[in-house]
Order: sequence, then structure tokens, then C-alpha cells
Amino acid sequence: MGNKDDETHAHRASATEIIHLGRDPFAHHGFVNTPVYRGSTVLYPTLESLEAKSQPYTYGRRGTPTVRALQDALTQIAGGADTKLTASGYQAVTTALLAFVETGDHILISDTVYEPTRQFCDYLLKRIGVETQYYDPLIGAGIATLIRPNTRLVYVESPGSQTFEMQDIPAIAEAAHKKNVWVLADNTWASPLYCQPLALGADVVIEAGTKYLVGHADALLGFITSNARAAKHIERAAGTLGVCPGSEETFLGLRGLRTLDVRLVRHQETGLRLAEWLRARPEIARVLHPALPTDPGHALWKRDCKGATGLFSVVMKPVPKPALAAFLNGLTLFGMGYSWGGYESLVIPFDCTPYRTATRWQPEGQALRFHAGLENVDDLIADLDAGFARLHAAS
Ligand SMILES: *Cc1c(COP(=O)(O)O)cnc(C)c1O
Repeated sequence: MGNKDDETHAHRASATEIIHLGRDPFAHHGFVNTPVYRGSTVLYPTLESLEAKSQPYTYGRRGTPTVRALQDALTQIAGGADTKLTASGYQAVTTALLAFVETGDHILISDTVYEPTRQFCDYLLKRIGVETQYYDPLIGAGIATLIRPNTRLVYVESPGSQTFEMQDIPAIAEAAHKKNVWVLADNTWASPLYCQPLALGADVVIEAGTKYLVGHADALLGFITSNARAAKHIERAAGTLGVCPGSEETFLGLRGLRTLDVRLVRHQETGLRLAEWLRARPEIARVLHPALPTDPGHALWKRDCKGATGLFSVVMKPVPKPALAAFLNGLTLFGMGYSWGGYESLVIPFDCTPYRTATRWQPEGQALRFHAGLENVDDLIADLDAGFARLHAAS
């Protein structure tokens, strides 16, 4: 599992690196970008080559030069041994979990995990006889007390979906590895540029490329990057399940990679400005953003992340529903929608109380999740300011 070799590869992918990884212009007549290879059938020139099974490409589902270019780039950025692209971030979650579990296993999943991940555990993994136990994301080294002889994996997501609790991944990974338990990390919030869970001790990193990698809300894509010990399990599971990304989506992932660094700088800056502005508003009870120095997860964020992206939440003071509706319905720059990571700003109300089981989510009022897009931040603030005026008028 997490071994020294994997750790020495870890580094912050530089703005320069992401421009050059996964590209070989002179293999494509000098054209700057790796082209979209579309294909199912791959021809073998001779009977000998067919029988030798030595061609780099054998079948469309098993990879194309476009897929391999993005996989290799992502492997280098994450400091891993291998990457598998998937058709969505959620498929990366399900494929990675299925790669390790079998009937009779027990798995530990953070209570603040992406909600569909819970559905997969509670419905499909349960049906095949895998027992899921949800744990407090703040448990740290205390995870050791929950590990049983049949515990197969610990799943972390830091910061947590919707509520942004930071997890102590190194402490959890150390405790898990002492008992030969795999560590899987959903790193979608930070992206491979702002956190490297493999270097923190995880064996497998799951990412929704749909979010910041693609970055334009125009494609679904996922990827799983693993260390050397985990890579063969992921490869086998993905191959057996027939997991493969679309050709165009893969190209959009490669294209997004080139501008990921500059986009994240802006998402981070605008996200922090909005978070600070909201924190000072009388309508807001709390802001949940680990890059704010006042956030309970700030020290862990500072230790483990190289930056913050544009997604954070707030808890409002109680307001009547019509006032909330007046605030949200009149916004002109913030859209209401679930997926995020594109260039546009978003806001969505949420409530974790119905499904959290290991911890209690007790907000003082309505919780809202914001995504800071690439618009001018002063325009975004003006839009929210007008929203609060409508809120008071309707209260
Ligand atoms: C969005 C998201 C996913 C799923 O990604 P899709 O591409 O939408 O399937 C998984 N994990 C996290 C944390 C996410 O935010």
C-alpha cells in the first residue's frame, strides 16, 4: 500500500508541466494538440502480431492514444503509478470501490462523503454482502478503533461534500496501513493541482474530472490514479467492468488541463473574496471554507493542500421560505444547479440531516453551497447584495 517509492514522486505539478504533459506534436504532423482518436476496431497487420498480443492498442474500449495521453499526464501530476479514465466521476467512485471489496468485507466511509457514494454502498455493496460503516470525518488516528479483521478499506473525502470538514488523511492512512487496509480518497474539491492524497498516504485517488479538469460544464469525465500496489486492482476492475470514457470527453479533459492552473487561481481568489464578504453579512451565521483562518479545518488545509478552489458553503440565520426564495430567484449571475467546477457561479440550498448517520448536521438556518465562477467578483458581490435586499423586503 502507501510505500516510500510512491511518495518520492509526489510534487506540485507546475503551470509549465501541465502545458507539456500528454502532448507529442511531432507524432501528429506538428499539430499542437493530441487529436481525438475515435475507434472500436483496432487492426493487426499480421497473424503473428495478432497472436503476440504486443500492440500498444488492441480494442477501442481498452484505450486510444487520446485516452493514454490524458491518463499519463494525470499519473504524473498526481505522483501515481497509473491512471484509469472513467465516463464520470461517479463511475470512478464505484469502479474504485468494486476493485477492492468482496462478500463478507467491512468498509469505513466518511460520513461527509459525496451523497451518491452512500447510495452505492447502501444499495449495491449491501446486496453483494459488503457492510458499510460511516465514521466521523474528524476521527483522525481514532479510525484504528473501528478497523475489524474483515475491514478492507477506508474511504476519505477531504474536505467533505457540502460541509467542508477537513480530514487528517496522513493519520488515517497510517492507522489503516498498520492493519493492511486500503485507503481511497475522493479528491474532487482540491483537484490534482491543489492536493496530492497519494503523497499523504492514500493508495487510490478518485476525481470527478467533470468539475475543474473539464472546467466548462460541457462534459462528464472521471479518473482514478493509484500507487503501484493498488494499480493492478483498479486496472483489473475497470477492464472487467468495461469502464471507458468517451473520445470527445477525453479530448475536453486534455484541453481543460492546459488552463487548469490559471482557472484555479481565479476560482480560489473569487471564492475567498465571496466567503469573506458573506462572513461579514448579518444574514449569515457561519461560512464553511477551510482556507479561511477562522475555519476549524484551516490547520489541516494549510498542511495538506496547496490551494483552495471555488466551492464552499454558508449557513444562514433563520429566514422565512419566501424570503429565501426572493434571495435565490432574483439572482442574475448565480445559477442553481448541482454539478460545479465550470466557469459559471452557482448557489444551491442543501440539507444533510436526512442522510448523515455517524454525525449530526445541525445548522442554525438554511445552508447554501456556493461555487465561485470566473466572473468579475465585484459583479458577483453586487448580485448577492441585491439578493439580500430582496430577502429583507420579503421577510
Ligand atoms: C461531482 C462529484 C462526483 C461525481 O462526479 P460526476 O462526474 O458528476 O459523476 C464525485 N465526487 C465528488 C466529491 C463530486 O463532487
